[in-house]
Parts: sequence; C-alpha cells; structure tokens
Amino acid sequence: MKAVILPGHKQGYRIENVPDPKPGKDEVVIKVNKAALCYRDLLQMEGFYPRSKYPLILGHEVVGIVDEVGDNVSEFKPGDRVTSMLFVPDWSCEYCKTGEEVYCKNRLVYAQELDGFFAEKARIKASSLVKVPQGVSDEGAVIVPCVAAMVYRGLKKAGFKAGDIVLVTGASGGVGIHAIQVAKALGAKVIGVTSSENKAKIVSKFADYVITGEKFSEEAKKIGDVSIVIENVGTSTLEESLRSLRTGGKVIQIGNLDPSVVFNLRLGYLILKDLSLMGHIGANKRDIIETLDLVKEGKITPVIGGEIKIDKFEKGIQLMKDKNRYGKILISS
Ligand SMILES: [Zn+2]
Ligand SMILES: [Zn+2]
Repeated sequence: MKAVILPGHKQGYRIENVPDPKPGKDEVVIKVNKAALCYRDLLQMEGFYPRSKYPLILGHEVVGIVDEVGDNVSEFKPGDRVTSMLFVPDWSCEYCKTGEEVYCKNRLVYAQELDGFFAEKARIKASSLVKVPQGVSDEGAVIVPCVAAMVYRGLKKAGFKAGDIVLVTGASGGVGIHAIQVAKALGAKVIGVTSSENKAKIVSKFADYVITGEKFSEEAKKIGDVSIVIENVGTSTLEESLRSLRTGGKVIQIGNLDPSVVFNLRLGYLILKDLSLMGHIGANKRDIIETLDLVKEGKITPVIGGEIKIDKFEKGIQLMKDKNRYGKILISS
C-alpha cells in the first residue's frame, strides 16, 4: 500500500509502497476513507518530536472502515466505521481512571510512537477507536478527534456557560472554522477574527460577528464582554486576545503557528484583569463521542478546503502553508 513515511528525524518524507499492515493482539486494521492534515504534521516533519520511533507513517486524524480485527478484539468487527483518538492511553493510571486519559503518562501517540494514518490502510489499537454514528459523514467524523472535540473539552475546561461571548482567532482555519461551530452549538455568541476580507466571507457563514485585521480588541470590546478567547494563531495575536477579554476572562491557547517566536507576557496585565491563560492539549474519548453527536445533530458542518491524493502529498503541504486557505485539508488514497 501507499503511505507517507518519515524515514528519520528531520529527514523529510517519502511516498512509499509498504506491506499492508496486519492486526496484532488488541488491534484492528482499517481501510482509510479520509485522513486530515494538521499543523502537528508539519511540526513532526520539521523535527519537533525528536523522540518519535522512526521510520513512521505520518498523520493522526482519520476515519475508515474496519477491515480486519486481531485477537482479543470483541468491540469492533469488519465493516464498522470508526475514527480514533490521537493517542493510545494505558487506561489504568490515575488520570485514565478519572476520565482524563489525555494526561496519561504512558500514552502512545499516533505518528510519533505508533504509525499514523496517511496510508491506504492503518493499524490501530482497538482501545483508541470510536464508532462513527450513522448520519455523520466521513468529513464530519475526521474533524472531530483533533479539532472539534479538542475545542469542546477546552470550552468545558474554561468553565464555558451558554450565552458567553467567545472570540475565535484564526477563524477561517481548520481549527478556527470548527471552533466557531462548537462554541455556537453549546450556546455561545461568537466573534470570528480573521486576516482578510476573502476569509471573512467564510467566517461570516458561521460566526455572529466577524472582525478583520490585526488590531481587533477595541472592536471586540464594543460587541460585548468576551469571556473566552479560543486562540488558534499564537504569538502574533495573543496580546490582542488578552486585551479583548473581560475581567476574569480566559484564553484557551491552541495555536502556535510560529513556535520560534517568544511571547513577552506582561504579568501585571494578567493580574489586574484576573485573566487566565490556559494551555490545552486535546480531547478525551468521552469528548469525541459527545462531539460526534453534535455533528450528527447537524450543529457542526465540516468545512473542507481541499482533498489531496497521497501521491500528491506535497500539494497538501503547500495548501497548509497557503495564507488564503480555509478549513481542513484531507488526504485520501
Ligand atoms: Zn491534528
Ligand atoms: Zn493512563
């Protein structure tokens, strides 16, 4: 089968024909319907995860059909449509036992310690799989584990309440355009912030208010008291995000598009406005299941900016780096 392989740390990628995977104990092999590109894939290619087990197959967002099941797998059978968590927890540590497996110390991450999903087939641990409900499209499922469910848990963690005003930066991007919809589905009023008039057109389909440009805090404050910012960009927008917040507001930091830039945080500003700056790692299995239900109910519509065949993987990377891109970029075989 064809796959996108990273041969070693900072050694680029190759499209290779590799043997089809076979399921081991507690594993299944799925036929990949769609996978999706993510900034983490670009960071992995740039070498930000040096302890990865190379060579590896890239990609950690997937939906597909169970093709074969290994020994000891009873929950899934061939023909089931599934998506996967981004990692495999041990399900036995103190965090896993309290439903916060995203903090598991022994977790194994797809496309880092385990092969990922940019391939025709993928070998997946059954314990990380989630069945995709009927009525949810492949596009609707593939955006859930890394994007929509991640935002869903972030809002819960930030103490979101229906009626809160939520501001989303990078609002047309793969995370932003779905973050708007998750917040709306939970009852928020949403301000989308984007960089160009062209992208504002897409954002305005989903957000209640759209602000275009780099200096957005004054306009945001005129709209109302912003309780939460979902920050998808990083150092270049964070200062304005902090300024946009009401007293006691929270930033959920998700994006870090340029990891080389250091942000100078004025602590006095945080203290005097009683602000919280929260890191956010991702979703638990329960969040994925609950978010798939929101997709099923039609409250979240996948926004896809392109679908690229594995052979043309380079085009997908170019699209990810294109400033005019919107939505998620999918990879299929
Ligand atoms: Zn991702
Ligand atoms: Zn654990």
